[in-house]
Amino acid sequence: MEHIRSKKLYEEAKKYIPGGVNSPVRAFKSVGLDPVFIEKAKGSKVYDVDGNSYIDYICSWGPLILGHSNDEILDGIEEVLNRGTSYGIPTEIEVKMAKLITEAYPSVDMVRMVNSGTEATMSALRVARAYTKRNKIIKFEGCYHGHSDALLVKSGSGTLTYGVPTSPGVPKGTVEDTIVCTYNDIESVENIFNEQGEEIAAVIIEPVAGNMGVVPPKKEFLERLRKITKDYGTVLIFDEVITGFRLAYGGAQEVYGIEPDMTCFGKIIGGGLPVGAYGGKREIMKMVSPVGDVYQAGTLSGNPLAMYMGYKTIMKLKENKHIYDEIENKAKRLEEGFKENINKLDIDAEVNRIKGMLCLFFAEGPIKSYDDVSRCNTKKYGIYFREMLQRGVLMPPAQFEGIFLSTEHKDEDIEKTIKASYEALKIAY
Ligand code: PLP
Repeated sequence: MEHIRSKKLYEEAKKYIPGGVNSPVRAFKSVGLDPVFIEKAKGSKVYDVDGNSYIDYICSWGPLILGHSNDEILDGIEEVLNRGTSYGIPTEIEVKMAKLITEAYPSVDMVRMVNSGTEATMSALRVARAYTKRNKIIKFEGCYHGHSDALLVKSGSGTLTYGVPTSPGVPKGTVEDTIVCTYNDIESVENIFNEQGEEIAAVIIEPVAGNMGVVPPKKEFLERLRKITKDYGTVLIFDEVITGFRLAYGGAQEVYGIEPDMTCFGKIIGGGLPVGAYGGKREIMKMVSPVGDVYQAGTLSGNPLAMYMGYKTIMKLKENKHIYDEIENKAKRLEEGFKENINKLDIDAEVNRIKGMLCLFFAEGPIKSYDDVSRCNTKKYGIYFREMLQRGVLMPPAQFEGIFLSTEHKDEDIEKTIKASYEALKIAY
C-alpha cells in the first residue's frame, strides 16, 4: 500500500499548518506514522488521495453514526445551501432542533446551540458558576471536555497521548479553581466535598469516559455523584458530546437513569457539520443572555446547514431506535472477535464495551480507571495501528480513543476487521 501523495501533502502541510494538521491526533504521531490524507468517504469507508480504501473506525470522532455521506441525510442539503449559508438571524430549524433535543433529554428544558463541544462545556461552566455564585469546579482525570483553559487539566485524548497533562499557555490562575478527582472513585469526590463542598459550582464528567479509551462508570459512582452534588447545591454537568444520541437515543443519562442539571452535546447533533449545544433545567438556562446576564454568543451558532444535517440525523435515529441495537450487536461481535484473538494469542490485552462504544486496550485488564489506562503499551498499539492500516482498516490513531461504529459498518467489515486484528496483534506482541 503506497502513500506517496499523502506524504507529499503532509510535507507541504507542515510548512503552513502547525504539525501539518488542524487537530493534533490527526498527525498520527503516537502511532509513529505520517497521516493519510482523505479524498472522499462513503458508508463505512474512507478513501485516501493515493486511492487506498479503509474501513473507518474514526467516523470523524463520532458524529457519523449513520456513516459517511449518507444519501438520506444529505438529501435536500443543496436546497438549504441555495437558500443561504448563514443569516445571523433566527431560523425555524433552530426551534425544531431545540424542541427535538429537549424532548429526547427530559433533564434539558432549554438548550443553546454553539459551534463545538469545547464551546458547549466552556459555556455550561460559566452558567453553572453564575447560577451557584461559586467558582470552583471538579473534573476527572482522563476526561476530556475540549480545549478551553479551565478544563485543560489532566485531560485525556491528545494530551494524555502526548503526555502533556496541562498545556503551556494556560495561566495558573485560570486553573486554580479546577479540582481534579479520580474517575470511578467516589471517595476522591467525597473528600473534596467534605472540605470545600459549599464552594463547588459544578462537577463536569463524561458519564461514560470516551477519551481515555472507553471506560464505563460504575453505576453506584454516578448515583453517589448525583446525590452529593444535589446535597451541596452543586450543578452536575454531563458532557455527552460523545455519548449523546450514541450510547442510546437519550444518551448515558437514559442508560444509567440519572438526570444531570446540565448536559453538553456535540458531534452527532451536527451530522458531520460543526456544532455543539448546552442545556439544562429552565431555572439554570434562564441565566443565559438575553434573558439573564451570563454572556454567550456566536456568529455561526445554529447555522442552517449544521442544523439541517443534525436535525435529519436525530430524526432518523428517533424514528429508527432499532439502530441502537444494531450498532450494539456489531460492537458485541467486535468485542467477541477481539477477545477470541486475545485468547488464541495468549496476550495481555483487554476489551471494554458498553452498548455500541468499545475500545481495545494494550494492557492486562481490568481497565476501570485512568491509572489502569496509563499502563497501556502505546508502542505496541502503534505497531497494531500500522498493521491494521496496511490491511485496509483505519483504527483510531491513538490508544486512548474509542472505536466509533456506524449503521453502515456491515457484517463483512466487522469480520474483516477481526481477521486483520488477529494478524496485527500477532505482529505487535
Ligand atoms: N467533550 C467531549 C467528551 C469530547 O469528546 C470532545 C471532543 O472530542 C469535546 C468535548 C470537545 O468537542 P469539540 O472537539 O467539538 O470542541
